[in-house]
Amino acid sequence: MNWQKFGFPVFVLLMLALPALPIPDFWITQLNYIGLYAIVSLGLVLLTGVAGLTSFGQAAFVGVGAYTAAFLAIKLGMSPWLTLFIGVALSVVVALVLGAITLRMSGHYLPLATIAWGLTIYYTISNMEFLGKYDGLLGVPPIALFGTSLGSGRGVYVLIWIFALASALAVTRLLDSRPGRAIRALKNGTTMAEAMGISTFRYKVIAFVLAAVLASISGWLFAHFQRTVNPSPFGLNKGIEYLFMAVLGGVGHVWGAFLGAGVLKIVEDQLQTLLPKLIGTSGNFEIIVFGLVLIAVLKYAPDGLWTFVGKWLPAPKRVRDWGDAAKLPLRDKPKPGELVLEVDKVRKEFGGLVAVNDISFQIRAGDIVGLIGPNGAGKSTTFNLVTGVLSLTSGKVNFRGQSVAGLPSRLIARRGMSRTFQHVKMIPEMTVLENVALGGYLRTTSGTLKAILRLDRKEERSLFAEAEAQLQRIGMAEQMHELAGNLALGPQRLMEIARALCTDPALLLLDEPAAGLRHKEKQALADVLRQLKREGLSILLVEHDMDFVMGLTDRIVVMEFGTRLIEGTPDEVQASPVVRAAYLGTEH
Ligand code: ADP
Ligand code: MG
Repeated sequence: MNWQKFGFPVFVLLMLALPALPIPDFWITQLNYIGLYAIVSLGLVLLTGVAGLTSFGQAAFVGVGAYTAAFLAIKLGMSPWLTLFIGVALSVVVALVLGAITLRMSGHYLPLATIAWGLTIYYTISNMEFLGKYDGLLGVPPIALFGTSLGSGRGVYVLIWIFALASALAVTRLLDSRPGRAIRALKNGTTMAEAMGISTFRYKVIAFVLAAVLASISGWLFAHFQRTVNPSPFGLNKGIEYLFMAVLGGVGHVWGAFLGAGVLKIVEDQLQTLLPKLIGTSGNFEIIVFGLVLIAVLKYAPDGLWTFVGKWLPAPKRVRDWGDAAKLPLRDKPKPGELVLEVDKVRKEFGGLVAVNDISFQIRAGDIVGLIGPNGAGKSTTFNLVTGVLSLTSGKVNFRGQSVAGLPSRLIARRGMSRTFQHVKMIPEMTVLENVALGGYLRTTSGTLKAILRLDRKEERSLFAEAEAQLQRIGMAEQMHELAGNLALGPQRLMEIARALCTDPALLLLDEPAAGLRHKEKQALADVLRQLKREGLSILLVEHDMDFVMGLTDRIVVMEFGTRLIEGTPDEVQASPVVRAAYLGTEH
């Protein structure tokens, strides 16, 4: 059986048919809560699990949705379908404002900020006279559909689970798309994504807004299901509990959100009846148990409980359906011999250290230029100055006749400069093909809505056709369905070159592509680079290994202690006593 094709519809039918079975009302109510929790938790899978942005404040967005629904229905008699829309819109606005302020923060500042705004929203809600302060609002009407009230039991169950499953489908679709891959690229630092032309800030905001929208939808359902709202379910405690559900279930997996919500709700209920009996007094003792369980989960199953379930399910396999896909657009390439890159007296100082001391060189179309030198010579720093990762202390960089000095790397990438990294940067849990497809980001246009509605499939086929073609170009097409993290270092480096090629570059920059490779792999890499040169590509090759660049390059720039020792043909460089001295460390 094809799980991907039939598994989900079967699960949907099963879940939606449940209330027709003789299941006690108690369990239907439990499942209602689980559905509501899972929707919020799904947002955290996207935000925390996939994008790597931890939020303790999601409960506040649930509150925004719930209070909007309750207030507008009770005070203004508005239709719930209208209040759903208004609540979501309000959450989007709040998320955009909070995101704009906080999402540029790094490290632990961001989670702290989520605590801060979580508390702010909670206390704002709690202190508003018109929202009933700590008593909240009573008498929210149930949702009616075609004139019949859905009530608070089996009727609303169907509605909750339609929303929950639709949300799961939306997130699943999103993750397998152009914006989804961009979001998946956020977790391991932003340098690689930016080098592929992705605005990482933009996608952080998108993930944040989507998580807020899901929380808000859950709040809307919650208000009509509970028929009353008060501030307590929207506080920091609950925000932590949502995060706990996501982590418990498996914060990187869509279905982990459901598993975490289910386990938490059921265990919480059992503990609430069991613990007071054991201890003799009543109180929120389950929180203590959850705290201990969380520590155990983080230690022994950091990927959550879903790993235990997921391993029994067949791994999703991409069907190769792009055989006849249309080609992606190509950029204008420089003519052979045209000046592509002009580096003029670039300089970088780190405090008192001059890492790059007024280095100049040029690259013409079709050339392979080597930049070599001992470790610490300033090669990577020069490379990062050219590609916009580091800002220049002084100097000029012109690319195809225009200055790119001071531009961020993603805008330089847009002009046709593409690179690899000295330490491979990839998304290990994505396939080789998907990693390479990341390179085609700027050649495609589909956005979040298109991805969720699956209106991006034609473009996706073109993109995957291109990614496969680039893998073929470097002789790796057979490995395209493997997980990138499972590859050895050699193939990983080649994959990075395929990803860079997928951008359709006018200039390719490689930072120590041969480092850590075995002799055979180095030869294979040299063959690939020779072939790329034959195809007319211009390449800047930063290398430590002198032998590797000798047979490949047209010209070589040698650096030592940040300065240029010599520039010349491989023969001239090889014959130079200064270079030999620099490499052997002898006096000259
Ligand atoms: P290479 O790539 O040739 O081995 P690098 O460009 O990485 O050399 O480093 C050149 C010099 O600049 C080294 O002395 C290194 O310690 C220093 N350096 C590199 N990056 C930084 C940084 N971010 N802050 C301070 N010093 C740095
Ligand atoms: Mg280096």
